[in-house]
Amino acid sequence: MNKSQLLQQDREHLLHPFTDFHDLGKQGTRVITNADGAYITDIDGHRMLDGMSGLWCCNLGYSRTEIADAIYEQLKTLPFYNSFFQCTTIPSIELADALAEVTPAGMNNVFFTGSGSEANDTNLRIIRRYWDLKEQPQKRIVISRKNAYHGSTIGGASLGGMSGMHKQFQALDYITHIQQPYWFAEGGDMSPEEFGVHAARCLDEKIQELGPDNVAAFIAEPIQGAGGVIIPPETYWPEVKKVLAKYDILLVMDEVIFGFGRTGEWFGADYYGLKPDLMTFAKAVTNGYFPLGGTMVSDRVAEVIKAKGGEFTHGYTYSAHPAACMAGLATLNILRNDKIIDNVRDNTGPYLAKRWAELADHPIVGEARSLGMVGALELVKDKGSRARFDDKCTAGGVCRDMSIKNGLVMRATGDTMIIAPPLIITTEQVDELVEKAHRALDDTAKALA
Ligand SMILES: *Cc1c(COP(=O)(O)O)cnc(C)c1O
Repeated sequence: MNKSQLLQQDREHLLHPFTDFHDLGKQGTRVITNADGAYITDIDGHRMLDGMSGLWCCNLGYSRTEIADAIYEQLKTLPFYNSFFQCTTIPSIELADALAEVTPAGMNNVFFTGSGSEANDTNLRIIRRYWDLKEQPQKRIVISRKNAYHGSTIGGASLGGMSGMHKQFQALDYITHIQQPYWFAEGGDMSPEEFGVHAARCLDEKIQELGPDNVAAFIAEPIQGAGGVIIPPETYWPEVKKVLAKYDILLVMDEVIFGFGRTGEWFGADYYGLKPDLMTFAKAVTNGYFPLGGTMVSDRVAEVIKAKGGEFTHGYTYSAHPAACMAGLATLNILRNDKIIDNVRDNTGPYLAKRWAELADHPIVGEARSLGMVGALELVKDKGSRARFDDKCTAGGVCRDMSIKNGLVMRATGDTMIIAPPLIITTEQVDELVEKAHRALDDTAKALA
């Protein structure tokens, strides 16, 4: 089938996620046909350095045949069996055990799902079950943050704080949102350190306003990913930790993006020294080779839901799918055996930080921030006042297109350009990434002038 036929069928039959159908109908779509290492190639043969690891999931790149083989072997032995009704499979037991080992101390139980959204829905179910069993059924409210992304099921999207999404569905009424720690856009005249403390205190104020006896949990990503790679000021998490210590409230860390090495530690919770009660994972757990998500459950919570009788009436057909679990095991083996995460922490992460920071000198960049294997560029018309080009986020869209033209996948969230390259990226490829990003910025400045 040729390209124009494919695009025609795409237009006629495929409803794409997070897409303006009207615009897509006019412009058509990019067909990705191949991938190798840290690169993807489209149907026209245009090869691009994948600065986004697919959708934050292919942390080991696209050439890990060990993972594909593990899936195939499992599909031939036992393609499916469920873990409902006192059944289980060997891969699911082995992956549960391996996850208990790599996740923070005190997290020794896992509930598997098919995705991150389902895992956050699972969290809502576990939180409620936990407080009911603790005989504190009035603890119902979950606090999240504005501009957060926690998935797209009704539960996940309600936990998320994206106003554009909330306009299109009826959010759950027991979830509320506070200020995000986004200094560049919302810090005003405060220093980043002052603003970090301020954003954390918003949590304290919200808990007091609602009454601590009514608050069940606080959910957050260690660093907001889809929100725009928002790295909180260094004061933020220590202050949040203090606030949470004052109250009996569960901490849910959504590690769907930062889990499995993106900060240079295994989990964001390790990086920030946090002790979550529940921890959402998905995406990179199988390197994107097979759908799998889940939530790690701390001993504190697991003891309650395991000790008291009564069925936990929750689960998905594909919870602990054996092929998905084999993909997870193969991925964990590579992460451990090849010391991928140590390399991000000690070599490629610091190198990216140094090279990425140079982009701050570009005339249209108001801030260049990075941590581990993520980075962001704030596009501005005026560096001093942090003023944007317009309020329609034109610059972000232009820069994304220029970047792709130059052979680099960067994503735009508003006028913030973000990257999350595969953890296997080499220092030479970091150079290539920064050079291509620089060219994209030059082309964007020209186009906007
Ligand atoms: C992608 C993502 C999710 C949702 O995961 P899906 O597998 O798409 O359902 C949840 N939380 C965060 C932080 C994510 O980035």
